[in-house]
Amino acid sequence: MVRRDFTATPETTPEMAALKRFGPIWLIPGDNRGKYPFCNSVYVEGARVLIDPGSDRSALTQLRDDQGVDQVWLTHWHEDHFTHLDLFDDLPLWIAKPDAAPLADVEAFLDAYDLGDDALKQLFRVILTETFHFRPRQPARTFDGDETIVLPTKPATTTVRVIETPGHTPGHCAFFFEEHGVLFTGDYDLTPFGPWYGDPGSSIEQTRRSVRKLQALDAPICLTAHEDGVFEQPAAEIWDRYLQVIDERQRRYLAYLSEPRTMADIVGQWIVYRKAREPLAFFEFGERATAQKHLAALTASGQVQHHPGGEEPRWVRC
Ligand SMILES: [Zn+2]
Repeated sequence: MVRRDFTATPETTPEMAALKRFGPIWLIPGDNRGKYPFCNSVYVEGARVLIDPGSDRSALTQLRDDQGVDQVWLTHWHEDHFTHLDLFDDLPLWIAKPDAAPLADVEAFLDAYDLGDDALKQLFRVILTETFHFRPRQPARTFDGDETIVLPTKPATTTVRVIETPGHTPGHCAFFFEEHGVLFTGDYDLTPFGPWYGDPGSSIEQTRRSVRKLQALDAPICLTAHEDGVFEQPAAEIWDRYLQVIDERQRRYLAYLSEPRTMADIVGQWIVYRKAREPLAFFEFGERATAQKHLAALTASGQVQHHPGGEEPRWVRC
């Protein structure tokens, strides 16, 4: 049975009043519509499980004090999903094994992004601590691929299917609350921006497979980690459009590579972010990381080749 109860709660803070309930599954909207550096959180009432504590500090503080939280789960290791994890330092943390290492150490975290130059690393080291309250954590338990967990909610237990969905990160997990027809897709967020797959451990092809795996669950309610975060029975076109962003990026890289181009040239096209954004070094990194994935794919498929000559490496369409 699917309960669709959008009733706001009588709690006092506006953040808590904005939460949306689907049976015992609550969506806690993030600041600024859950746009980066914020995300939407999910809470399982009764089981007192909090997923991705990156939404809103006052709402999460109130949740902790009024409802109680017994454990925290993360869909994956990215910073916008653990911003307020420091409020729950004393509680067990669960995350998939492939995503645990970046949380254990700042340097491992920076390496997982492969930030490259020292200035950018230092910028991120500061942001990570001051904005995202990074503190090294070790998981109490790791998710082990697709598995089923039964949570002690009332009046009946709640079954959670952990859905292994690599691509965005190697250990990304989605959570399907079957009895309630609610799927939390994490960072496969169905936004017009499209998927992120720019980390060394990310994969375009795994991203495609994971999105289709989530779509195949045919969940009546999809909750996502960013923006409005609620899709009722999302139509096939919504899933298709999300993946078509990958194809559109690929088309634009290919079109631009009609002449030999350096990485600086390619980054300057702002194919991912559409225009230069601040802090520039941070967004240039994102452009470069994504371009590298597409160039690798295009080179592997024989559509693009390295152009000989010149001091800097260049790429050109075959
Ligand atoms: Zn992410």
